[in-house]
Amino acid sequence: MKILVLNCGSSSIKYQFFSLESNSLIAKGIVEKIGMKGSFLKHEKEDGQKVLFEGEILDHKIGIEYILGVLSSAKHGCIKNLEEISAVGHRVVHGGELFTESKLVDDEVIQALEKYTELAPLHNPPNLKGIYGLGALIPSIPQVAVFDTAFHTTMPQHAYMYAIPYALYKKYGIRRYGFHGTSHRFVAARACEILGTKCKGLKIITCHLGNGASVCAIKDGISVDTSMGFTPVEGLIMGSRSGDIDMGAVTYIMDKEKIGTKSASVLFNKHSGMLGISGLSSDMREIREAATKGDERCQLALKMFDYRIKKYIGAYAAAMGGIDVLIFTGGIGENSDTTRTGVCKGLEFLGIELDETVNTGLRSQECTISKAGAKVKVMVVPTNEELMIAIDTQKIIEAHKN
Ligand code: ADP
Repeated sequence: MKILVLNCGSSSIKYQFFSLESNSLIAKGIVEKIGMKGSFLKHEKEDGQKVLFEGEILDHKIGIEYILGVLSSAKHGCIKNLEEISAVGHRVVHGGELFTESKLVDDEVIQALEKYTELAPLHNPPNLKGIYGLGALIPSIPQVAVFDTAFHTTMPQHAYMYAIPYALYKKYGIRRYGFHGTSHRFVAARACEILGTKCKGLKIITCHLGNGASVCAIKDGISVDTSMGFTPVEGLIMGSRSGDIDMGAVTYIMDKEKIGTKSASVLFNKHSGMLGISGLSSDMREIREAATKGDERCQLALKMFDYRIKKYIGAYAAAMGGIDVLIFTGGIGENSDTTRTGVCKGLEFLGIELDETVNTGLRSQECTISKAGAKVKVMVVPTNEELMIAIDTQKIIEAHKN
């Protein structure tokens, strides 16, 4: 079965095309600058060869037309005709309280997603544009929505509620939803596969550390708590997001700087985090390089980054009554040995002990990096959200056939 996975952002569409007989990636690419000058599609074939198509890509539907065009083109494509695509899986950021698992897209799903655009005004509208665009181009193709929030719908109420008037939860749905669910789910399941054990009976903490970052507490295979909240700004310090902050400081800054909610949102989402502290960059590699050369603010940003993750690991070990497996993933988690060392240092009392001969220099590779015999297995597991979306899509299509 061949599945196309689409991740539609406000001005871009990332895509991956899988053949699930062998779980292999056949092609991938990105459409960028949708609706702007200089829009293009960058396509990468199975053999790593890249091709660039420039054109006027005015909206998501045209972007998808480009993608379908290149996939089925005689010169650069990998299928003879579009009927070879069995289904399309969409990454959808917000599924609210309703969607506890991935769903075949129908009118009901679309209506609910329209409703949830209020909760994710930046993310759900482009996700929906992808669904509408594809539906208009190939009406007969089944589409599946895979939600970032779905994995976290198992959180108990005492973990997802905020201590604000209960009426506001009922009226506006103000609660912790959590994000990165597809990644946390994928790496936890993959770690269990590698360890040759079932998730049942295990207490796992997953650290997804990329530009966006979150930690998840997974007990018996289900999410029981996670660091992102009502929006993806809560929790860890991220590339340009503040993570946890006293809301008293937020209103104080808004007062003093005479800014409204829109500017405050830009401040805490785009100008804070590692960028805000370092004053240099949101990119971990650049910050690390400057810190090595003696930049004190970059050194501080790195210490703060590691410290916040360490606190969450401690909190989630307490929440679950222990920890058996600690997983690092995402661009930073998979590649930065120094971050992994910085986070784990001082957690020996929990049974977390790194084998530095294995950890040092390890990049983007599945590996257990804890000392042999240590109580907690510490692992690096590269995430693959797109493959997870493709697998979910296949399962749903097959279930609907029967
Ligand atoms: P996104 O959340 O956008 O998917 P990624 O998961 O790709 O982000 O992670 C991007 C982050 O990973 C950046 O901060 C980048 O600097 C960091 N990163 C990538 N490679 C390395 C590396 N070798 N060492 C340290 N950090 C790295």
